[in-house]
Amino acid sequence: MPSENFYLDNEDLRFQMERRVNWASILDARSLLSGEDAPFDTVEEAVETFLDLLADPVGSLAAQRIAPRAAEIDAQGCRLVEGNVILPEGMKQNLKDLTEADLMGFCLPRRYDGLGFPTTLYTAATEIISRADASLMNLFGLQGIAETISRFADEELQAKYIPKFSSGEVTGAMVLTEPDAGSDLMAVQTKAVLDDEAGIWKIRGTKRFITNGCGDVLLVLARSEDPQRFSGARGLSLFLVERSERVKIRRLEEKMGIHGSPTCEIYFDDAPGHLIGRRGRGLTQYVNWLMNAARLGVAAQCLGIVEAAYREALDYARQREQFGKRILDFPPVAEMLVEIKVTLEAMRSLVYRTSEAVDLFEGYSYGLEGMDRKDPHYGEMRRKKDQFGQIAELLTPISKYYTSEAAIRLTSLALQVHGGNGYMRDYPVERLFRDARITNIYEGTSQMQVDRAFSKILKGGMSHLLEEKARTEWSDDRFRSLAKRLEEGYRRFVRCLEIVQDRRCRDPETGEEVVDGDFRSLMARRLVEMGAELYMGYLLLEEAQLWDHKLPVAAHFISEVSGRVLLHANAIEEGETIPIQRKEEVLLG
Ligand SMILES: Cc1cc2nc3c(=O)[nH]c(=O)nc-3n(C[C@H](O)[C@H](O)[C@H](O)COP(=O)(O)OP(=O)(O)OC[C@H]3O[C@@H](n4cnc5c(N)ncnc54)[C@H](O)[C@@H]3O)c2cc1C
Repeated sequence: MPSENFYLDNEDLRFQMERRVNWASILDARSLLSGEDAPFDTVEEAVETFLDLLADPVGSLAAQRIAPRAAEIDAQGCRLVEGNVILPEGMKQNLKDLTEADLMGFCLPRRYDGLGFPTTLYTAATEIISRADASLMNLFGLQGIAETISRFADEELQAKYIPKFSSGEVTGAMVLTEPDAGSDLMAVQTKAVLDDEAGIWKIRGTKRFITNGCGDVLLVLARSEDPQRFSGARGLSLFLVERSERVKIRRLEEKMGIHGSPTCEIYFDDAPGHLIGRRGRGLTQYVNWLMNAARLGVAAQCLGIVEAAYREALDYARQREQFGKRILDFPPVAEMLVEIKVTLEAMRSLVYRTSEAVDLFEGYSYGLEGMDRKDPHYGEMRRKKDQFGQIAELLTPISKYYTSEAAIRLTSLALQVHGGNGYMRDYPVERLFRDARITNIYEGTSQMQVDRAFSKILKGGMSHLLEEKARTEWSDDRFRSLAKRLEEGYRRFVRCLEIVQDRRCRDPETGEEVVDGDFRSLMARRLVEMGAELYMGYLLLEEAQLWDHKLPVAAHFISEVSGRVLLHANAIEEGETIPIQRKEEVLLG
């Protein structure tokens, strides 16, 4: 029997929403209970509204309408006809359903007809929708475009565009990548020239790989400053460009997965643009904010994809018989399913802790705007803003990195459980495997997420989080013995971090002793993984104190993590450097 509701049937997501998320803190930070137009009187009322929304319409729509259309959308894909993108019929219906259910302005301000709900709730909705159809998330998830306008554009632009996003009248796109500027967005060459007389900017250049590039409102990163005076990121600004005949869709990519989401090459032919915020802040501030929001969205997309793949694999393993018994009873098959489920629960906990940190940071940031420095609450509010800002900056790239790498591995395991059938189009797991593959590429590749997370780890962000967890008083011996293993891992992590930080080499040009940047770059992934998995181990252990089901989950995860920590630590302590120093010898040909 297919599920009727993708929220109500998901015990672990419900556990996160109903017992784990600290809604009271979020509501307080986000001023949803106090202030003139606060929508709720009590925490209970707010939480009831949030959970009801997840059940209906989000969970019911996802299960009953979106999921049944996914296979056909995947088979049809998008088409480009005379410069216009045609979405698959089912995708048009999906967007109509979401709009009619008033779900397109989730986090947008209420004064512009949005729902003004917390990020954590949006993350949950994104997860549920991605479970039904990962490619729909790419359009539903573009609400960050409107949030960026809401946060950084002037009042006039906000008033003009945000209500249209809230009502679902327009969709947007994030237009950054160019043929020669992918991971390195500082290399963007699209030009923005100010037409002084008309008082408008004109945008010229080619962008590629743009999700929903056929949308109505495009946020375009372009070079507005003289490169001789302001090179790299300092010369880039962000522009709002409306779809017009000066915005030409030149090509639609034929992709491996997420077929319902159009990926466009766009040529801007002196298209008129409005500056968002201030010149020169485009990449460093606004795109940075937008991409962080999008990264959390991708992490939620990964949760949804893995949830769907897990359920397919479990159903299959219960029904399929070989050698006279169901394949679920063969330990190697059970092991694959346990690995998927345990990792899914670990990463879900990570993603919702990240969302909470984002909510608290955003909430305190808003609260501080316009607050008098002499206000007795100013200092405390400022401290909390900085604290949660640092946690969000650390956990966002870690969530994106970890969940996307895991989604690829875990959907592959789910396919493996299906044997040959898994390779066939007849089974949804084949699509889920293809859809998962993009997640560690867009919104910044895994290598770029590691780079970003590692810069925060070097500043002590992860050590601080782990130290705090290591000080927990556990209620009984079952938890204490697992916590001890995590603490051993944490000590090893700290030692390895010191090794990487202290490592020096000779500068080939000056002969001086300098930081060994290549070694840092090579070992960054290992340290990010060690830190992330130890942190998730602690999260699962905390959850095991609330729900018995989590104890074997935590025990399995911690056992696996202990082994992986040793593996990484050995590589770092031995100083394994063949990929740096001897790559030419290895990479023949
Ligand atoms: C389906 C799809 C949808 C997309 N949607 C959008 C969108 O809506 N808007 C948008 O602007 N872009 C979008 N993109 C573009 C996407 O963000 C880029 O593809 C991505 O950032 C990588 O850039 P690249 O493809 O040029 O790869 P490159 O930057 O050329 O990277 C190639 C490889 O080198 C590695 N690498 C590069 N630099 C470093 C480094 N310094 N250290 C370590 N490793 C490095 C990368 O990790 C990667 O493995 C989309 C892409 C796809 C495939």
